[in-house]
Amino acid sequence: MRNSDSSKRILVTGGAGFLGSHLCERLLAAGHEVLCVDNFYTGRRANVAHLMTHPLFEVQRHDICFPLYVEVDEIYNLACPASPIHYQFDPVQTTKVSVHGAINMLGLAKRTKARILQASTSEVYGDPQVHPQREDYWGHVNPIGIRSCYDEGKRCAETLFFDYHRQHRLEIKVARIFNTYGPRMHPNDGRVVSNFIVQALRGEAITLYGDGRQTRSFCYVDDLVEGLMRLMATPAAVTGPMNLGNPVEFTIRQLAEAVIALTGSSSSLVFQPLPSDDPSQRQPDITLARQTLGWEPMVALEEGLRRTIAYFRGTAAAGDA
Ligand code: NAD
Ligand code: UDP
Repeated sequence: MRNSDSSKRILVTGGAGFLGSHLCERLLAAGHEVLCVDNFYTGRRANVAHLMTHPLFEVQRHDICFPLYVEVDEIYNLACPASPIHYQFDPVQTTKVSVHGAINMLGLAKRTKARILQASTSEVYGDPQVHPQREDYWGHVNPIGIRSCYDEGKRCAETLFFDYHRQHRLEIKVARIFNTYGPRMHPNDGRVVSNFIVQALRGEAITLYGDGRQTRSFCYVDDLVEGLMRLMATPAAVTGPMNLGNPVEFTIRQLAEAVIALTGSSSSLVFQPLPSDDPSQRQPDITLARQTLGWEPMVALEEGLRRTIAYFRGTAAAGDA
């Protein structure tokens, strides 16, 4: 039987990952029953250890490339490695989880009549030639490069979401998430914010790929989770795709300098080759989210970095720096 409107039974795939664990926490705090499904490919039990004793929380080890039979009211589909290093480690699996995983979760949504939200990505815009990126931009994506397993996998997932919506009348929400950071990123995750903080705390050189003039716009995790929950709560007619991210843009070199200043580290900068297809600029146009959700990020980069640095200082993985 379904839960009442105020308390829902909610499935979070990838719930033991970085974003997923914060989302599970917020959904529980809002009084919902949460089923976290994860195969622990990049996620960790430790991310949800503090939720294990919560009476409304449940974890199930499962790979969403295989069908899942549960009864739920809402599904947040987050399962997929997100760091380039992780999604390029087994690219075939990355496409499988994006596409087969989406088909399985859409099938589950169809059977249970659940509303389903897809964690899509700014990577659907590829190396964008339009700046900032609006949702009506179709992107500039290499279909055969080393990032393609993720980019094209996520693009195909969006296609599936919209076809299930048109063909089977599913209630869908597609969020295009831009670079998000915060506590519980894996120290070996390989993404730029965690790399720089861990390197700075260990006193190691900060690895700048390329000349460090490429840009990204960094959103603090609490802001992002708020955006996802607001999008899920919109009327059925709102499907997205909707950009969610912080529109304040920085060069990667500026990020490195901010991390050094905030950690008080004596780390130097070293320049390493730019990985292929690394987007040169990225900034979300969040007009749609502002208008539809009344949402915008509240945590500035400096404050978000402070909180993230405090988290990494507290973990042995950062070398107890
Ligand atoms: P993450 O790697 O920390 O989390 C992904 C989670 O999915 C992990 O817990 C992992 O174990 C799980 N997973 C992977 N394959 C699975 C499978 N086959 N079955 C079940 N679970 C599986 O990454 P994250 O940053 O938390 O990203 C979460 C989602 O948000 C991803 O879909 C990602 O593409 C999307 N996203 C994140 C960002 C960001 O900046 N963090 C940006 C754009 C999109
Ligand atoms: N980057 C870097 N040094 C690192 C890790 C990443 O200079 O140690 C750069 C990377 O080349 C990219 C940007 O930082 O230009 C963001 O990389 P990330 O892997 O976090 O995410 P992306 O947005 O590329 O998916």
